[in-house]
Amino acid sequence: MYDKLVIEEVYRIDGIDRKKWEASIMTQLERVISAEEQEVIDYMDDLYEKIKARDPHEVEFLQATKMLLNSLVPVFVKNRTYREKNVLEQLIEPERIITFRVPWIDDNGNTHVNRGYRVQFNSALGPYKGGIRFHPSVNLSVMKFLSLTQIFKNSLTGQPIGGGKGGADFDPKGKSDNEIMRFCQSFMTELYRHIGPDIDVPAGDIGVGKREVGYMFGQYKRIQGAYHAGVLTGKGLNYGGSLGRTEATGYGTIYFVQEMLKDRREDFKNKTVITSGSGNVAIYAMEKAIKLGAKVVACSDSAGYVYDRNGLSLQTIKRIKFSEGARISEYVKTHPEAEYFDDGSKIWSIPCDIALPCATQNEIDEESAKMLVKNGVQVVAEGANMPCSIEAIDIFLENDIMFGPAQAVNAGGVACSSLEMAQNSQRLSWTVEQVDEQLQQIMKTIYSNCKRASNKYDHPGNLVVGANIAGFTKVADTMIEQGVI
Ligand code: NDP
Repeated sequence: MYDKLVIEEVYRIDGIDRKKWEASIMTQLERVISAEEQEVIDYMDDLYEKIKARDPHEVEFLQATKMLLNSLVPVFVKNRTYREKNVLEQLIEPERIITFRVPWIDDNGNTHVNRGYRVQFNSALGPYKGGIRFHPSVNLSVMKFLSLTQIFKNSLTGQPIGGGKGGADFDPKGKSDNEIMRFCQSFMTELYRHIGPDIDVPAGDIGVGKREVGYMFGQYKRIQGAYHAGVLTGKGLNYGGSLGRTEATGYGTIYFVQEMLKDRREDFKNKTVITSGSGNVAIYAMEKAIKLGAKVVACSDSAGYVYDRNGLSLQTIKRIKFSEGARISEYVKTHPEAEYFDDGSKIWSIPCDIALPCATQNEIDEESAKMLVKNGVQVVAEGANMPCSIEAIDIFLENDIMFGPAQAVNAGGVACSSLEMAQNSQRLSWTVEQVDEQLQQIMKTIYSNCKRASNKYDHPGNLVVGANIAGFTKVADTMIEQGVI
């Protein structure tokens, strides 16, 4: 009785929402696992082992698969149909994987050969949709993990698009413009036969921006002898690109975090922010965060990071990255008050309120996560795809840090790509205000759907579970409706 009174008093003094507090404690305390839940966990473990036995070397794909299966346990406990219909067994196998040779000639006349990929993972909701990545780290495992998560991200946007991803182990760094053009043309000379506005619609990703999309579109048009504007997104504005697409992933990330903050009656004003990377996603996330009153103190590239406790100059970062294509280390030449460190992974040791990993996969490991928590981080939101390891995510959730998973947080890019497809079909161009308004609405809806699913399946505050379940159920239900194909 005494304990109860003391607890009631603590609630009163701290103004704590009792229901919320109890719910969050429930997720942290070891939960009693029911027989049904254990049965589903065993089923997921068995399935995972089968997938692993088939492709044991696909580390990134297995990591993404494990995260997915773990988070789907609650929905499988409540809905037996998915198991009875073997939906996961079907879903986890890509509908089609295309690999091909990409030969090209450099400016000195030497011949090179890279490997190209397109994974057409799932078309239940619409044509395959997902970016193309040019980076030396590209392999089938990376392509499969990206396209798997793309399925649920695309589903979450509410747009009629399936999931896919492509790329090549080509390193665009240090290549001349003509070399890039020849590579893109060679890549499209094979890819063209597998894509189309109603089949598969690629876009940009790491190493593929407007320039590369332009070269690929030109080659596609030439081979097809027809102007299919909707075959690629992320195009230039002169030929069917959408206003607002360039900024959409970064802005969308911030709109999502805004919703997370609102739930705790907070906003971006005076918050200290760190983003990793200084590419498309990072730069526009920084831009919107600064506009909303935050101070961005650090960002990076693959060589190192810059830090200024008083806030970085976005104008300088844009000049270095967009105009000069130079390294972030250049920053300190015009801003001697800032510091440069040549180990990018240490960026997470800087104290901040909001951490936005916006570079690449597996940037935040367990150690970095612990450091962020120790330094008082309030929100971690994944602008990049799978930047946090499974262990890192567990640490954030255990410590009641607001955590936004990639498939929800960075969905603004593909959502806007879908708006580009809609404009191409209509042969119309919308204003930047129209596009941005829709983007904001989409990000709000994604957030509320993830939150609703996490509550419905007894994991309040766990947006990883919420995003995967909300994305999965729509795809799974549609697959059942469309039959075994
Ligand atoms: P960019 O190529 O524009 O930028 C990537 C940035 O990350 C660069 O600053 C790059 O530095 C840095 N980077 C790459 N590898 C590392 C590394 N190992 N350590 C530290 N920094 C690194 O790509 P985007 O901004 O387009 O994409 C970033 C992430 O966001 C990716 O995970 C992508 O899949 C995801 N994403 C992108 C979308 C988009 O619309 N662009 C949509 C949804 C997700 P450097 O220049 O030195 O290589």
